[in-house]
Amino acid sequence: MDRFLGSKRSHGILLIEGEELNHLFAKRLKAGQELEVFVEGKLYLCTLEKLSRSYASCLIKREIENPTPLPMINLYQCVPVELKNMDLIVEKVSEVGAFKLTPVISDRSFQSKGVIEKKLERWKRIALASFKQCRRPKPLDIDQPIHLKDIRADAQLNLFLDSFEKERSIKDLNLNGIKTINLVVGPEGGFTSQESEFLKSLGFLPIRLYPYILRSETASILGVGLLMNLSILSLPTYQE
Ligand code: SAM
Repeated sequence: MDRFLGSKRSHGILLIEGEELNHLFAKRLKAGQELEVFVEGKLYLCTLEKLSRSYASCLIKREIENPTPLPMINLYQCVPVELKNMDLIVEKVSEVGAFKLTPVISDRSFQSKGVIEKKLERWKRIALASFKQCRRPKPLDIDQPIHLKDIRADAQLNLFLDSFEKERSIKDLNLNGIKTINLVVGPEGGFTSQESEFLKSLGFLPIRLYPYILRSETASILGVGLLMNLSILSLPTYQE
């Protein structure tokens, strides 16, 4: 079923306007058809009631409350020097199932908090577009940027991707019953040795992806995708 972003809700009616209305026209939906509408953080099953040039009104049938797939992965993504690479990271880690993305400023990110904050709205828009396309239960949450020194090992499993790691790969992890994972990925130039030691001192385990050295964005997408898929056998797959 097609999914759209609503602009406002009034009682049992949701409105679709602006650019999103064009998407609705492009899909050739007709009055009386069912559609999903996301508004104010909630997803609804609706019937298209009225379609005009300036808005579409949709009658709410019920709220759709799909459970969140487990584990909930918070990707701490060190911001790349090539900031536009974050667009791809946001779209793809949303598709492969990350729960949240926190942009991280590390020594080799060479970006200021102000510059990153200006991009947050863009990344949230990309996350919303991906939410429509891949039919996640909720959009990827994009958090405020933080400095690497402020990362906390507060998940059940705390990992960082490190191409210098010799011992441990994802298949060595015990993912049994793990519901929350923090995953830190370095920027193009990698972590400094002090940053790696700092993450280890917090309790983050270094993980190597085989067999080659990947671009940061490939590492993030593969890391999240593998963790989600290898966890499937060891968990009831959804958070009720
Ligand atoms: N030689 C660089 C270094 O100093 O690590 C490579 C950096 S790599 C291009 C960017 C980031 O992607 C790394 O910091 C790491 O987080 C992740 N990464 C890339 N390939 C990886 C691999 N094979 N195993 C684990 N992490 C990897």
